Amino acid sequence: MAVLWLDDVDADDIGTVGGKGASLGELIGAGLPVPPGFVVTAGTYREFIEEAEIDEELFAAVDVDPEDSAALREAEATARELITETPFPDEVREGIVESYREMGEDGEEAFVAVRSSATAEDLPDSSFAGQQETFLNVREADLLRRVKECWASLFTQRAIYYRQQRGFPHEDVDIAVVVQRMVDAEKSGVLFTSHPSTGDPQMTIEAAWGLGEAVVSGTVSPDNYVYDRGRDRVEDVTVADKKVEMVKDPESGETVQLDVEEDRRTARVLSDDEIDELVGLGELVEDHYGTPQDVEWAIYDDEVYMLQSRPITTIREDDDANGSVDDESGGDDLSAAVAGNGGGEAGDGGDGDGDAADVLVDGLGASPGVVSGTVRIVTKLDHLDQVQEGDVLVTEMTMPDMVPAMKRAAGIVTDEGGMTSHAAIISRELGVPAVVGTGNGTRVLEEGGGVTIDGDKGSVRAGADETAEPAEEFEPVEAARPETPVKPMTATEVKVNVSIPEAAERAAATGADGVGLLRIEHMVLSLGKTPEKYIADHGKRAYQDELIDGVRRVADEFYPRPVRVRTIDAPTDEFSELEGGDGEPNEHNPMLGWRGIRRSLDKPEPFRQELAAFARLIDMGYDNLEVMFPLVNDAADLEGVKRHMREAGIDPETHRWGVMIETPASALQIDELAEAGIDFASFGTNDLTQYTLAVDRNNEHVADRFDELHPAVLRLIGDTIERCRELDVDTSICGQAGSKSEMVDFLVEEGVSSISANIDAVRDVQHEVKRVEQRLLLDSVR
Ligand code: PEP
Ligand code: MG
Repeated sequence: MAVLWLDDVDADDIGTVGGKGASLGELIGAGLPVPPGFVVTAGTYREFIEEAEIDEELFAAVDVDPEDSAALREAEATARELITETPFPDEVREGIVESYREMGEDGEEAFVAVRSSATAEDLPDSSFAGQQETFLNVREADLLRRVKECWASLFTQRAIYYRQQRGFPHEDVDIAVVVQRMVDAEKSGVLFTSHPSTGDPQMTIEAAWGLGEAVVSGTVSPDNYVYDRGRDRVEDVTVADKKVEMVKDPESGETVQLDVEEDRRTARVLSDDEIDELVGLGELVEDHYGTPQDVEWAIYDDEVYMLQSRPITTIREDDDANGSVDDESGGDDLSAAVAGNGGGEAGDGGDGDGDAADVLVDGLGASPGVVSGTVRIVTKLDHLDQVQEGDVLVTEMTMPDMVPAMKRAAGIVTDEGGMTSHAAIISRELGVPAVVGTGNGTRVLEEGGGVTIDGDKGSVRAGADETAEPAEEFEPVEAARPETPVKPMTATEVKVNVSIPEAAERAAATGADGVGLLRIEHMVLSLGKTPEKYIADHGKRAYQDELIDGVRRVADEFYPRPVRVRTIDAPTDEFSELEGGDGEPNEHNPMLGWRGIRRSLDKPEPFRQELAAFARLIDMGYDNLEVMFPLVNDAADLEGVKRHMREAGIDPETHRWGVMIETPASALQIDELAEAGIDFASFGTNDLTQYTLAVDRNNEHVADRFDELHPAVLRLIGDTIERCRELDVDTSICGQAGSKSEMVDFLVEEGVSSISANIDAVRDVQHEVKRVEQRLLLDSVR
């Protein structure tokens, strides 16, 4: 059977109709109004290549050396030609065309969207699925060609590269194609069934005139309606000035952008009745999936349609979660969680629900969420195996080699460290609740005891909490991944920070405008050897390959959105833990020592390989990669930087590059840095704060003095932004403070070009930026 109607499929059919097809079928099954359509099944693609006997030729053509870019290009071209030039078997062609004709009305040809829909085999890595082609406003004349183009998207250079590199057979990948009637929307938008960050029962609807692309792509600022589901009423309406709309040109069928006439520009898009209807559908869809959803909708001829629904990935489960607790968490046995002589220092953290007396230790809430689990104290790396799924990992301080155990853990507690420590950064990216800098967690908490950790309040309580969730499953599945992420439109770009490539998908799902900081130290340190030792043992090329693998995973997820990759910046005490680290100097103050660009320039061998890896990526077509240098003080540093860039084949005159502003010196020397040719300056407030206030960012004893909003820090930032605006240098922030609303307000008012936040904070920052921008606009016209 070449095609299956969406009415006849559901989530179980993902292997036949792919993620997109299955999720649309599921919505229809739940009684939601979805435009009609059918799926050209994955089996049809298979039949096509096998019956035409092009399969062997196809797979042979794409079996190339993935590092050879010319061969990759040729493989893509050959595969594409084979697929598009081979005629359809008659019955397949007829099956598709007949089904298409059934969707026409009153003798008119239907306009349809044709989209590739990846099958279950592709799920471990979406890149296997190819480019996820989508063609809009397709009619019969182009239909069959578009279907083939979706098939051919299995063999883009990037998809071929991935499969070749990972030894994933091309024969094992199938693709389905969804053909669905387009809704000629008069109004459209998106709807979050619950608050996108907190999960509160508050529905947000964004609405604009015309087709949804305008809202989804951020071309137009939509109206915003907030509906309180607890009180059953519209709480807030913000009517935007909707200057343009996307509509279908009746002649060509193309989507065109038109100016909206004066009277409709500032008119409210949705009536109360329409809001009621959308709210009803939103509740239905959330009930059906059991989790808050992010829905694309459209209204045509007074009918509301749901176009797509996916879980909101940014919500943190927290106090109001209704999940179960880990069976092994030790129940309410308080004594089991406290060491015999412990507890003396506990008890001053009772700042919320829960009884203060239950608080065993407290520290900084470094990664949000509440979880219960069994304590596993890890003192030595070879004890990591003891950390099982759902345990709470308790350790002095996490290290790069602990990441696999951190992934298994339900929660993380450390003795040391601040909000910008390894434990804090990684647990946020993994979506694992964490409390850091407790001072005494490894001594007070008892191995095997049940505890509940609160990553918002920074407390660890005895026993399991019925309201806590087990570790959240954060890997978004293909069906859940946004095709085009939905976000409020802001003039200031909102980006995201990434430190571990595994978090790339989750980061991209936030809809961020790019990656403001991609740290490579976690990729390097997790190799277990110092870069020098790794290169000595495995060669330069292997070291580059490791970096390419990690960076590429992120660059792929975000392409063509920019990704700012930073050269290495790890202190000597972190290197000394690694194999080959015996020769590292023993520094009194590693934070003030041989790190960042200082080390790179003094000991350029690994630095050269980093730049060579970036150059290879740029060569492969990752023109979205920007290069950034850490801990720069002045223009003298940049002389060395530029020389190495040129040697690696990255032209500082033409390729975008920039620096972190992490020392007061760099802020005060901004004119000289601009003169040296930087395209952007990004505030690393973690370091800028520590160096301005002389407060060690990782020292829990002075954590309360680590204040990124200190007037001195703000003055350095504000003055630098002002100067950069005059000098035509872009500004950004990529330190932890970019996730704080007060800092966001300050930066937007000062005119920063972009803000890069943590994954869990991106959605809030987008809304905050939008709020400030609107207020500034209003102030300027009042
Ligand atoms: C910073 O210093 O603010 C920063 C983002 O860099 P890192 O935290 O990696 O030092
Ligand atoms: Mg820094």
